[in-house]
Amino acid sequence: MQQLLNDLADLSGLRDRDALDFALVQLFRTSILGDHGSVRLVRAIGQAHEQHWLIRAQVHTSHDAPTRDVVWSDWSHLPKLSTFPKREQAITSGKVICTVGPPCTTIFPMDTQSSVRSLLEMESDHPLSEQVLSMTRTMLRMYQNLLGLLDYGEKDALTELLNRKSFDSAFVRAAVEQDTPVIEGQINRRTVGDGGCYWLTMIDIDHFKRVNDNFGHLIGDEVLLLLARLMRSTFRLNDQLYRFGGEEFVVLLRCADHADIASVMERFRHAVEEFAFPQVGTITVSVGFAGLRADDTPDLAFDRADKAVYYAKAHGRNQVISYAALVQEGELTEVVEHTTETSFF
Ligand code: GH3
Ligand code: MG
Ligand code: MG
Repeated sequence: MQQLLNDLADLSGLRDRDALDFALVQLFRTSILGDHGSVRLVRAIGQAHEQHWLIRAQVHTSHDAPTRDVVWSDWSHLPKLSTFPKREQAITSGKVICTVGPPCTTIFPMDTQSSVRSLLEMESDHPLSEQVLSMTRTMLRMYQNLLGLLDYGEKDALTELLNRKSFDSAFVRAAVEQDTPVIEGQINRRTVGDGGCYWLTMIDIDHFKRVNDNFGHLIGDEVLLLLARLMRSTFRLNDQLYRFGGEEFVVLLRCADHADIASVMERFRHAVEEFAFPQVGTITVSVGFAGLRADDTPDLAFDRADKAVYYAKAHGRNQVISYAALVQEGELTEVVEHTTETSFF
């Protein structure tokens, strides 16, 4: 019991979601399953009729570190929802589902009140006792409360996108993952499967002041909310979407190469232009993007993306502009010397 309390205290001090998920499956395996069996934290992802199971964290043995599915873009290879009908049943019914083994599988649904559909799955040699079932449910409630607290600190209240405060740590993680600087001539050979590279993109609504002036602040807020929804449906699960305040949005995402990020952002720009906003009609956005570099800082990367947005605003708005392209075409003079990003074409 003392060990369990210690583990819970450690868990409650974590602020990183991946670390939290890893710690959770480890805690269940050691404290609940007595170092036997396996534990999985699973989430349903995708659109209504095309949903798949994503493993957020899983652990099978005490000496191996937990693992998870890492999916940057195409998740069609993940198992479809129908592959695991018991998981579906647990989520739909909101009830714990047990199958008799060995192994015995016990599935605990979570987030039943929200649109996120996730569950905890444990495989054990013997069916879990009533006491263990009850303890697990309580611990999962604590875990969900912790996630709620993280959301509260990290998300923008209006749009529920990530807020400015949570950006810096995500940026540092991205910069670390961005293993090697891009090498001239190799960029086009990179594929998403290889990991690609990170890009910082800034999205600024065009003439948003007019929306407020013409329709009022409440309608303006609704436009911001709908734009955030459009972002969620256009970008991918692992793309990190931020509202940086006002009518400025940021996406930190991984793409195969310059052509790929340009077409992703162009698709978004087009989706906004096509969308009918109630009362307001149509709006447009100006987008600027820049690739992350070795030794980058958030300020430096922002400065580059911001220059691209500024250029878009000064040249007719409603367009996607690449910082690297501007430098390449001589529209901007690069101040920082260590550029590899200008050699994408
Ligand atoms: P540009 O095309 O140059 O970006 O023009 P703009 O009007 O979008 O830009 P500007 O920066 O002049 O105005 C931004 C406006 O966004 C000003 C402010 O009224 C509005 N705004 C900022 N935050 C909020 C918010 O939370 N809700 C609403 N409704 N409006 C906001
Ligand atoms: Mg602005
Ligand atoms: Mg604006």
